[in-house]
Amino acid sequence: MNRSEPKALLKSRGAARVRSGHPWVYRSDVADADGEAGDVVRLTDRSGNFLGRAFYNPRSEISLRLAARDDEPIDEDWFRRKLEDALSYRTSLKIDADAYRVLHAEADGVPGLVVDRYADYLILQVGSAAVERRLGWVIPALEDLLVPAGILLRADSLSRKREGLDTEVRTLSGEVPESVVVREGPVRYTARLWTGQKTGSFLDQRENHLAAGRYAGGRTLDVFSYAGGFALHAALGAESVEAVDSSGAALDAARANAELNRLTNVAFTRKNAFDALREKSDAGEAYETVILDPPAFAKAKRDLPAAIRAYKEINLRAIKLLASGGTLVTCSCSYHFSRELMHDTLRSAAADAGALMRVREWRGQAADHPEVLSIPETSYLKCAVLERTF
Ligand code: SAH
Repeated sequence: MNRSEPKALLKSRGAARVRSGHPWVYRSDVADADGEAGDVVRLTDRSGNFLGRAFYNPRSEISLRLAARDDEPIDEDWFRRKLEDALSYRTSLKIDADAYRVLHAEADGVPGLVVDRYADYLILQVGSAAVERRLGWVIPALEDLLVPAGILLRADSLSRKREGLDTEVRTLSGEVPESVVVREGPVRYTARLWTGQKTGSFLDQRENHLAAGRYAGGRTLDVFSYAGGFALHAALGAESVEAVDSSGAALDAARANAELNRLTNVAFTRKNAFDALREKSDAGEAYETVILDPPAFAKAKRDLPAAIRAYKEINLRAIKLLASGGTLVTCSCSYHFSRELMHDTLRSAAADAGALMRVREWRGQAADHPEVLSIPETSYLKCAVLERTF
């Protein structure tokens, strides 16, 4: 053991949590710590038993993030091995796209680091002071393993503010254009690397986009369309698609993406989704396919009551719009709105609509964004595919 290595001593609740497989330790579960923000610290319980090494940030509510359970150094070689492992897992998935997540933070053993690939470019999200301090190890490893034309740091997330880190977007290596055309299965789209949502698009929905492409038929309504993530795939199989979003910029991007794919059966409506769904259901319109992919209505636990009402409202309207035999593809990316709550909410919406809904699939986030069983927070995206049988 390195004698000068900073140490953190956990209270019994924190130690029990780490032993159960959860890598986050809240500030209130730390008995004593002598490191600084960005240090890798040696974790022990009150009896001095070694628990692992963790990324430390006393400014964050989650002040320790476990990085290793074994007694191994967190050095340049450690980061490179994590990246190699993450890459070989992605290779094993045989992803039919050139935009995907290369490294998914805790699920790939590196808390606070996300690496997304968009064709020749890599976009990094860094949510931990310890990773930020070690970017000098991460960048050369990424250059060596993936040979990107450029690497961009998107350090503009809300979670960084909670960690007390600056927010910024800057090039870390090479050159990174404002946008790049990428492929997702049979569809191509433009991802805005510097300014688009998340790191440029909703990569966690990739497999659900492809699934929706298999289900969509007839008249299709894609609500909360953004740049057409679902609409483009749906348009390949449907007669017509109407993409609804309240953002004009999102719809401009969706329109450009439809042109890129030479799709002529997509229409775009700029409207509040709640109004659009109510007006259409009041007018007695019918669709063979309805897709709902709203933003997270419950960003915090206290938002849940209002969020449940909102999810119920849009799903009730969507079910009413479905023709018999029609398919609803309905998503939620709110962690706090659990799978069980979503199930209850959908059942209640179907009951109010007087519809019998057959479950075709319960889906989640794409396999390059894996969940970790012992970290419930890594399971956030849900996507139900339901068929209206009458
Ligand atoms: N379905 C997209 C991602 C949707 S992100 C994909 O798979 O790529 C959520 C979208 O909902 C954003 O584009 C946002 O502009 C839109 N939005 C948020 N609130 C809205 C509202 N009340 N009415 C309509 N659109 C809304």
